[in-house]
Order: sequence, then C-alpha cells, then structure tokens
Amino acid sequence: MSMPKLGIIGGGQLGSLLSEAAKSLSIETIILTDDINAPAKNFTENFISGNYEDENLINEFINKVDLVTFEFENIPYKILKNINNFKPVLPNPEINKLIQNRYTEKDFLNKIGIRTTQYNLIKNKDEIKLNENLIPGLLKTCTLGYDGKGQFKINSIKDIDENIDFSNEYILEKIINLKQELSIVITRFSHQKYEVYEPIENVHEDQILKHSKIPANISDSLKDKSIDWAKKIVEDLDYIGTLCVEYFVDKNNNLYVNEIAPRVHNSGHLTINTHNISQFENHVRAVCGLEKIETKKIYNGKMLNLIGNDISHYRGKTFADNEFFYDYLKTEIRDKRKMGHLTTIEK
Ligand code: ADP
Ligand code: MG
Repeated sequence: MSMPKLGIIGGGQLGSLLSEAAKSLSIETIILTDDINAPAKNFTENFISGNYEDENLINEFINKVDLVTFEFENIPYKILKNINNFKPVLPNPEINKLIQNRYTEKDFLNKIGIRTTQYNLIKNKDEIKLNENLIPGLLKTCTLGYDGKGQFKINSIKDIDENIDFSNEYILEKIINLKQELSIVITRFSHQKYEVYEPIENVHEDQILKHSKIPANISDSLKDKSIDWAKKIVEDLDYIGTLCVEYFVDKNNNLYVNEIAPRVHNSGHLTINTHNISQFENHVRAVCGLEKIETKKIYNGKMLNLIGNDISHYRGKTFADNEFFYDYLKTEIRDKRKMGHLTTIEK
C-alpha cells in the first residue's frame, strides 16, 4: 500500500506530535499554518505558512496533499469546507461548525441525552439579569475561547463587568461544585469501531491544564459512564479520528460533559509513553484508513505541562529513564503559554 500524503492544518505542539506519529508510520506530512514561526517547522519536511484567506496558499496546500486533518478546531469553517471540496478533510468540517460554538455544542449534547452544566445564550447585559438561576456563573464567549480566555466570572447581577464586549455572543454557565475533571480520548475508525483510552484525571491551574494522570481516581460507574458517553458522541457525529471529551465531576459524583475537542488533546499526551499506540498514531491511522490495532496500556503515568518560564528549568536537565521530556521548541517563552511537557511513567 502506498502511503497517503497527510496535510495538517495548524503548526503548534499538536501538529508537531501528529507529524512525528505520521513519520513513524512512513507517512509524509505537509503542515499549513498562519504562524511563520510555528514550532511544527521543526517536525515536518513540508512547512507552508501564510494567511488562511490566501487562495494561492490554500491551492498550494491542496495540490501537495492526499487528505487533510487539523490540530485545532477553530479554523474558519468556510476554509475547511472549501478544502474538503478538493481533498477529503477528516474529521468532517460539519463537526467543527457544530463544536466551534459553545451554545450549539451544548445543545447537541443535551439533545442526545448527555448531561452538561446548565447554560443559556446571552446576547446583551439585560439577558444576564433574566438568568439569575445561572448565577454564580461563568460568561464564556460562544466562539474562539481556549485556556480560560474569553471568560468572565459573574458573582452577582450587581457586578457585571463594564468591559464585557457584547458584540460577541456568550453563554452563561452555572458554576458547579467541582470535585474532579476527567477526559476521555477516543479514536473512531468507522461504525462501532474505536479504540478508547481509560479516563484521564486532569488538574487545571488558572484554567490551564497543569497535570494529567492515569488511572483516574474514580468509581467504576463513573469510568463506565464517561466511556459510554464518549462512544455515543463519536457515533452520533459519525466521527473519524481522535476526539477528546472533557468532563466535570461534582461533589455529589454527578458527571457532566464540559466540552468536546474534535482533535488530539493535551490530556492525551501521556499516551505516547503509557500505551502501545498513542492518541496521535491512532488519529493518523484512522484518518489515513490504516489498520486499527488494539490499544493497550503498558504503564500508569502522569504528565506535567510546562507553562511559560517552567521550561527553562527543564531544558538541559538530565532525566531518569521513566521520565520523558518534550520541548515544543517555541521561539519565545510567554506567560501562560504551553512550552513543553514531562511525562513520568510508573515502571
Ligand atoms: P476553555 O475552552 O477555555 O478550556 P472551559 O469551559 O473548559 O474553557 O473552562 C476552563 C476551566 O474552567 C475548566 O477546565 C474548569 O476548571 C473551569 N470551569 C469552566 N466552567 C466551569 C463551571 N461551569 N463550573 C466550575 N468550573 C468551571
Ligand atoms: Mg476546556
């Protein structure tokens, strides 16, 4: 079988790690990004950068690839859809359209019988006042938020921040009594065919993922339910590739879906070292139509995100043989920026 040329949109750490996984399967990657300094430059043989709105750039990309996937879900829908007219984009851009907006994403989940936190669409300040039952709550932009960006805490109707820009749409989401956060990483190959990793337990600091570990410290019933819901989501979306479902567990052990990432996910980085097949390799296998291999855990493990200046304490350090350091080779250290990670396996 001759291997397809895989286009990847986005050149961050996820694109880099996808490219590495592809390389290990002898698949050539072509990375398209709007950041000339994107770290994936160091991890692919074909790096194309420019403006996503530039037709020549997109055509160059389309001509070089056999199929396309992406490392982040916020590429404008019309660009993905256009590319999909020429070369298959997997997962399907319609899924992005649904998930790019927190409101349609949560409506979809509730429609298929999956619990989320309570929420409502908010278009202006007065609509916050009509949703007192959701306070204390978080006002989150419907689109383009990540790592807690675009979120405002609303403690009471009296203290609505004057700086909130209501030219954006928001959802107001009730704050729950968080006990734990989990994620399920799942790769779907076709109807009822998937590989699913066990629940990962995640700790956020300043709304940015800091630690992930397996096994998660949860009951068997939460484990089963989180896996069942993830399967239901990928089946309902007719999804191809790796997807991550982020969950909340409240103090009464109720499970809620927080959000869906239609892509490989930061919490799944540990799978590179804990499993026979990583989330990245499974994604490449699924979108390229390669064989599905039974995915097995070899070790328990944990991952620490190296954020901002953390990285400078790890560069040049020597590591034990159960520690795996990943430097994303970003050109500039910035506050709150994910710069690398360290996975430690239990041998
Ligand atoms: P982002 O898209 O920026 O990742 P999230 O909606 O996942 O935004 O929120 C980031 C983090 O903020 C969550 O992982 C969680 O720790 C906290 N958080 C978000 N929504 C709620 C909520 N309704 N109740 C309690 N904590 C929340
Ligand atoms: Mg999140």
